[in-house]
Amino acid sequence: MKHFLLTIDVEDWFQVENLRPWFPMENWSSQESRIEASTRSILDMLGSKRDEQGNTLQATFFVLGWLAHRMPSLVREISAAGHEVASHGYSHQLCLGQPASELRRDLERSKKVLEDILGSAVHGYRAPSFSISREVLALIREAGYSYDASYNSFALNSRYGRLSADVYRRKGIAMDLGEGFYELPLSNLRIWGRSLPCSGGGYFRLLPEMVFKRAVQRILATQDAYHFYIHPWEVDPGQPMQNQIPVLSRFRHYVNLKETLPRLGNLLDSFLYCRFCSCRDYLESIGNSGN
Ligand SMILES: [Zn+2]
Repeated sequence: MKHFLLTIDVEDWFQVENLRPWFPMENWSSQESRIEASTRSILDMLGSKRDEQGNTLQATFFVLGWLAHRMPSLVREISAAGHEVASHGYSHQLCLGQPASELRRDLERSKKVLEDILGSAVHGYRAPSFSISREVLALIREAGYSYDASYNSFALNSRYGRLSADVYRRKGIAMDLGEGFYELPLSNLRIWGRSLPCSGGGYFRLLPEMVFKRAVQRILATQDAYHFYIHPWEVDPGQPMQNQIPVLSRFRHYVNLKETLPRLGNLLDSFLYCRFCSCRDYLESIGNSGN
């Protein structure tokens, strides 16, 4: 059985790293929030689909603690629709370069705010801009998470964290970091010893649909799971345009926003033979299979 791990990083349009210089955290409360509508458009699309066995599609939503604190009903809505709710941290500060004490507080605070809303344990964490390292992973485990989903092997984005991925034992696509803690890497295509970015986000919006679909097919030909990410702001063409940001960042942020939701629907339709499960369910299934 092949698995499609669909993951959504729930952050508002002004909380993106590229826009941080113009939208510091102290100004977030005064911005127009569009996260409820954009998250709902993804929830509605998922709710309208069934896999080839007739099952609903489940996903994992990594929710920013700052948003959860202000919009607990959105968190409950995601969970009530059958999806896993996990943490995207509280303040969307990059993990790398942050003092350990501050990162620890952010990891614990975001977990607690979600758990208080849901009344159940939160297991997963995704770092802002995939900014992890061995040291950061140790702090994530200490904060009580059972998995991290932040390792992205694409080497050309300088914000992404680095990890010696080959030293860990694999269970499915997950790396077993010991003591019941796992890293669930994003999926990229390896060609000629290099990683091509095929895990979602801006690359999903930029690459032609057919090219992206073929890449996912190639990944699934050799692995039992494909791990994809997207943000609600990427399906929201009505967000306020920021013309002050550098031209390359602007292009990367706004390219093909109008097309993204239908494209996502097409991508999911092409892989309905897969099991669409949450990250947690995937880790449980490989843990039980003894692979
Ligand atoms: Zn993020």
